[in-house]
Amino acid sequence: MWIDKAKSLQPDTKAQVLILGGTTQSRRLACALSHYDEIQTTTSFAGRTQNRRPVAGRVRVGGFNGIAGLIDYLRKQRIDLVVDATHAFANNISANALTACNACNIPRLLLLPPAWEPKSGDNWTLVDSHSEAVEKANAGAYISVFVAVGQQEIMDYAGLTASKVTARMIELPDGELPPNFELRQARGPFSLEQERTLFASLRIDLLICKNAGGEAGLSKLIAAREQKIAVVMLRRPTYQLASKEQ
Ligand code: NAP
Repeated sequence: MWIDKAKSLQPDTKAQVLILGGTTQSRRLACALSHYDEIQTTTSFAGRTQNRRPVAGRVRVGGFNGIAGLIDYLRKQRIDLVVDATHAFANNISANALTACNACNIPRLLLLPPAWEPKSGDNWTLVDSHSEAVEKANAGAYISVFVAVGQQEIMDYAGLTASKVTARMIELPDGELPPNFELRQARGPFSLEQERTLFASLRIDLLICKNAGGEAGLSKLIAAREQKIAVVMLRRPTYQLASKEQ
């Protein structure tokens, strides 16, 4: 096992685990591993958000400068195991991690929750791009749309024509959005009760989100099902899965 190998190489030191983070599950993993004396975790953030939630273990922030930079980091920090716990749509870092781990002969563990599947009562339209999501939303003549795609891509939704668009994100974007937009700054995970109350109070009739999978973002889909809210769901592109799952 990787930890036995790590301990045999450096018996007096802790096994070094690099967690590629930015997700709820990465924070939970760092917390769980903090109970093991023989393991030292470092969680790596891209640095997209300024006010991060506290995380157990060490933290580093910022890109590695591509594959070469990541290889350099893994070697210098004597990393024994990389856990890729990044978001299902974070494709580049996953591809880089895979290549760098192979180059350094370091094991890589992928934490990728299965994609959400529609259940009885769901009304999903699957799309492959943000532009297609906007197109489907506008074609449906919805009145109150809730967009949960994050700060990085919200500008792609500026063309939404619904009377009211509510977009939730951790940090607000730099660009200006049209007057039908209301931006809400909030950090998940959100409970089912929170999502129920929010959607009902805003009279949401369409939810747009990415198929991140996992428990943390599921409550919005349950609330949508309960309130018969249509969903435009961004599929995980095949190439993303390929780069994560190799
Ligand atoms: P991405 O497209 O896969 O990565 C772009 C670049 O950002 C990478 O090449 C890397 O730069 C840097 N990077 C990304 N994640 C990093 C990490 N954990 N530690 C250090 N550098 C990282 O990623 P993204 O979609 O922009 O997501 C960025 C971060 O936000 C990830 O940690 C992800 O888990 C989190 N997140 C993303 C989403 C989403 O919808 N995409 C949603 C929630 C959270 P270098 O090449 O310079 O190393």
